[in-house]
Amino acid sequence: MFMNKILFLFVILLVFSCNREKILVYAWVSGPKGATDTELKDQFEDYKKKGIDVLMYSAGHNPKTYQRIGKIAKAQGLGFHAWIPTLIQKDNPKLDSTLYAINGLGESSLDKPAYVKYYKFLCPNRDEVYDFLAELYGHVADIPEVDGIHLDYIRFPDVILARGLWDKYELVMDKEYPQFDYCYCDTCVSDFMKQTGIDIRTIEEPSQLEEWKQFRYDLITSMVNRLSDMVHSKNKRITAAVFPGPNSIAKKIVRQEWDKWNIDAFLPMNYNDFYLEDTKWIGEMCKESVSLVDSSKQVYSGLFICPNPKNRANAPDPEDHGLLPEELEAAIRESMENGAAGICLFTPGRMTKEHWKVFKKAIYKNYTEKTNDL
Ligand SMILES: [Zn+2]
Repeated sequence: MFMNKILFLFVILLVFSCNREKILVYAWVSGPKGATDTELKDQFEDYKKKGIDVLMYSAGHNPKTYQRIGKIAKAQGLGFHAWIPTLIQKDNPKLDSTLYAINGLGESSLDKPAYVKYYKFLCPNRDEVYDFLAELYGHVADIPEVDGIHLDYIRFPDVILARGLWDKYELVMDKEYPQFDYCYCDTCVSDFMKQTGIDIRTIEEPSQLEEWKQFRYDLITSMVNRLSDMVHSKNKRITAAVFPGPNSIAKKIVRQEWDKWNIDAFLPMNYNDFYLEDTKWIGEMCKESVSLVDSSKQVYSGLFICPNPKNRANAPDPEDHGLLPEELEAAIRESMENGAAGICLFTPGRMTKEHWKVFKKAIYKNYTEKTNDL
């Protein structure tokens, strides 16, 4: 009888602890857009209550802003990382115009950005670009309230756009076209020549040249790894928002060979709607990512939330698409059952009441083992 009671208590405890096990939730958040300290405190308190653990917070370049917001986030028990775009940089007196990437037609991304006005990408093959970024990230990483640096736009412009975006930009991207293909600046051309003996400007179909692809993967990898050493020397973490894959998408469309990056965690943007895919695809992407990166590094599955579920079917712009409340549980389950260490929401601000309801249940499930339940 006594043993039965003990056993009963043990089972209750086990069930309770399983139910309380929560998956790790990151969130991409921008601000503060004029919010007062009290408003930020209320916002972060609400996020924490809803189940968010860590903020990837984008607030420009000023370290003092990160200090102010980080202090409030920490007081609410949230992790706080500075999310700052890397190679996309608008005109800045610290950046010479010759540091911007050049496409296959010889046009600078500063004067003639691809697709959208803000697509002003720096060339990753320039020491001045590294120096600029090391100073920027270094000063932010020095702030005690900042747990880490989160890189974004650490890539080339999309040489091929995600399939779901072709209509929006009225393009058929059946192959690599020179106006979207970077970087053909003098430094890149001459370094590639030194390395391989090939003058890339004379090659008719550069997309067919494996060495030229690898050269550009390596430029991004080298920039990331230099930044990583710098951030790690300050005892801070470094992570990055990356395209899905890396093999199936990231390498092909933005030249991120991110399984070679020495950073602490990866947040692939598994935005299924951009690729005209369903939630099952999110699982496939997580599986690929986890199988390729070192087991000491985590993969957090980035999920794109639909801000206006009722209108999704009529919204022409994929930016207005994303996961509906009824898809969110499957997206989380697919991610977790395929090895993700957690998820990252893009964004809490896009979540509707119905999303939060589903979310609250889904984050407290135990996904450690795949079950065969139907
Ligand atoms: Zn270049």
